[in-house]
Amino acid sequence: MKAKAAVFREIGVDMKIEEVDIDEPQANEVLITTAACGVCHSDVHFAKGSILGPVPTVPGHEPAGVVEAIGSEVKSVAVGDHVIACTSMFCGLCKQCLQGRPYLCMDRRQCQRKRDDTPRISIDGKRITQFADLSAFCEKMLVHETAVVKIDNDIPLDSAALVGCAVTTGVGAALNTAKVQPGSSVAVFGVGGIGISIIQGARIAGARQIIAIDVVPGKLETAMKFGATHTILGGPDSPDGDPVKAIKKLSRGGVDYAFDAVGMPQLVQQCLYALAPRGLAVVVGAIPTGQKLEVDPGHFYLEKSIMGCFMGSNRFHIDALNYFDFYKQGRLDLDSMVTDRFGLGDINEAFALLDGGEINRAVITF
Ligand SMILES: [Zn+2]
Ligand SMILES: [Zn+2]
Repeated sequence: MKAKAAVFREIGVDMKIEEVDIDEPQANEVLITTAACGVCHSDVHFAKGSILGPVPTVPGHEPAGVVEAIGSEVKSVAVGDHVIACTSMFCGLCKQCLQGRPYLCMDRRQCQRKRDDTPRISIDGKRITQFADLSAFCEKMLVHETAVVKIDNDIPLDSAALVGCAVTTGVGAALNTAKVQPGSSVAVFGVGGIGISIIQGARIAGARQIIAIDVVPGKLETAMKFGATHTILGGPDSPDGDPVKAIKKLSRGGVDYAFDAVGMPQLVQQCLYALAPRGLAVVVGAIPTGQKLEVDPGHFYLEKSIMGCFMGSNRFHIDALNYFDFYKQGRLDLDSMVTDRFGLGDINEAFALLDGGEINRAVITF
């Protein structure tokens, strides 16, 4: 069937809205009518060439929608169900899956079509690569069943979409990856969709102190609304000075956890340096390919750690439903995270605004 999609063909060239062909669902696949999809920095990184992948493709990996058709083997959702989707699909049988880490699945090919099979998305019979195995900036999505979770019908789909990436990544970074302890102190560098989600995760975990750092003053105000207890303005001309010193002063010697929600080597360094002994620095943002980390190894005498984080160490089918419980209890604010809404035709504008750091979360609505 035909559907309109934002097709990315070349770095630095605006996406065009093109008509693509979406195939019928095979046994384990779900066809979804897309209702909303958040714009994530990973999409923008890809469009700018700082994360590389095959083209042409349709970006978008933070979607919500309604199930339109299912394959013969699909059991977890039915036609008409409201769903969200996440790129953390899994085979269920590899070592990582069996050890409870499906987000690190080693055999993701099981969730993709074979190379010689009919492609899920095509134009004039030519394959369009499915970005993140989702390609959600399209009126319809054809995805593997494990990518999809049914949600309650009373949850607004544009808010729900954010759980597909930003919220799962950020809240998960605090609750799953770092396992933030009640009464602890936390620093979060970067107050975008991921940073706000980390702040909310730390608040849900019962952190005593949550320090938000950003170079945009308005974002610090936003951070306070979502649960930050203190803010520090970063950047060379900041009246707050060196953020590491400011964090150490506020936390009486260093924080227990520090998160880089941006993906910059300099921020990872500051995360490590701002920790108390035994503290944990978590790299959540995607550092562009080719950049290197350099840190003073003296910090390791204090048993500080740096660890990676992929998609909030999620078990999406468990986490997403828990997050909607928090949402309904008023403990996880999804609605205020959506600051801007665009139609599919305005997608290039949405990318530019997110890249310029002017907005928090833009959602493309269909
Ligand atoms: Zn994302
Ligand atoms: Zn697996």
